[in-house]
Amino acid sequence: MTLSPTVAVIGGGPAGLMAAEVLGASGAQVHVYDAMPSVGRKFLLAGRGGLNLTHSEPFDVFMSRFGERRAQLEPMLAKFGPQQVREWATGLGIETFVGTSGRVFPTDMKAAPLLRAWLHRLRSAGVQFHMRHRWLGDASLDSAALRFATPTGETSVKADAVVLALGGASWARLGSDGAWAPWLQGRGIDVAPLLPANCGFDGAGWSAHFSSRFAGQPFKSVAISFTDSQGRSFARKGEFVATATGIEGSLIYAASALLRDEIASQGSATLLLDLLPDRSAEQVLAAVKHPRGARSLSSHLKSRLGIEGIKAGVLHEALSKEAMQDPVQLAATIKAVPLKLVATRPLDEAISTAGGVRFDALDPALMATALPGVFAAGEMLDWEAPTGGYLLTASMASGAAAARGAIRRLGL
Ligand SMILES: Cc1cc2nc3c(=O)[nH]c(=O)nc-3n(C[C@H](O)[C@H](O)[C@H](O)COP(=O)(O)OP(=O)(O)OC[C@H]3O[C@@H](n4cnc5c(N)ncnc54)[C@H](O)[C@@H]3O)c2cc1C
Repeated sequence: MTLSPTVAVIGGGPAGLMAAEVLGASGAQVHVYDAMPSVGRKFLLAGRGGLNLTHSEPFDVFMSRFGERRAQLEPMLAKFGPQQVREWATGLGIETFVGTSGRVFPTDMKAAPLLRAWLHRLRSAGVQFHMRHRWLGDASLDSAALRFATPTGETSVKADAVVLALGGASWARLGSDGAWAPWLQGRGIDVAPLLPANCGFDGAGWSAHFSSRFAGQPFKSVAISFTDSQGRSFARKGEFVATATGIEGSLIYAASALLRDEIASQGSATLLLDLLPDRSAEQVLAAVKHPRGARSLSSHLKSRLGIEGIKAGVLHEALSKEAMQDPVQLAATIKAVPLKLVATRPLDEAISTAGGVRFDALDPALMATALPGVFAAGEMLDWEAPTGGYLLTASMASGAAAARGAIRRLGL
């Protein structure tokens, strides 16, 4: 009797687990290795924010979120896209719903029951898990054996094909530390620099007074706009948070790729913060100019425009005492507070990682051309997307695609 081929999936995040699922159904012997004591740690962390699995917008709009990598990702997402993610969750006994923003979540907003059901199904399909197995990125990927550090010492493993699904390089304590990047480069696989995506920024220039009072507080119902030096622009309403040294939060993450790239090329990026996006500049000016009698400026701004707390604080950061008294300057600044950003927050804090294994280094089945038999998937590939369920969907879609590639290569 000939033994069925063995596939090593290294990395047990959503990309690796989806690869294991597709491989498990093919008759291959599937072994999942992960450095951590358990798989799916970042997936579980995502569950703390409600687990935004995917997005319900039309497929064309969904694909536009991947920007310059749309062409590379579209074939994978056409096979395993938003609809398939929802069906997959349903298949695991987890119903999903579409939130007001069009984002898709499990009904209970939790990741743990989904992961539990998924692991149960994978084990039932014969997938074997090897935790606390840290791949050492050896030079023998394409020949003798894969080397792993384990609690009982080093071990080596043979496999007929390998799927690398090692994640990006943020939240290293959950397992994905980006250590693989130089290892793969050393084996002739081109890797684009790993950069923070969906990240916060430093350099808003807060005074000590402002950061001690307002760090951690949200700017709500505001809008930001930004145009980079190449004329690409971003404008959206939403909310974000002041940090001790800058800004972070959903609205900032949405603009972060543009801001990050502008800082890299120009040294800084200045966005404009509209504190009252639902009022026109004329309305704001009229309200500011309205006679205030004996009332202080701050109670005038509060009663006429609802500007108080952090919104009032940021105006004092942007304007001198004299300028605050000038209705034209004050009104203009309410509609456009300049926030100059000079650095991204460190990659480890980011929601996701841009850069990674370049698609040029892979064939359409995600196999490394420099290392036949070795496939790569998930966030370690060179693509990025905003938050909104795109990250999980594309990680799973690419895991499935790498598995299909391995199945074809092994003739299963
Ligand atoms: C706070 C937060 C919230 C998020 N919320 C969402 C959300 O709601 N929706 C969404 O779409 N996305 C979300 N994301 C992003 C999403 O979780 C990731 O994009 C996704 O987990 C990437 O999947 P992956 O399988 O490629 O990598 P990972 O999930 O990072 O998994 C990689 C695995 O590889 C293992 N590994 C790494 N190196 C080695 C090694 N040398 N040897 C062995 N194992 C190794 C790691 O231990 C890890 O288990 C969130 C991310 C964060 C940080």
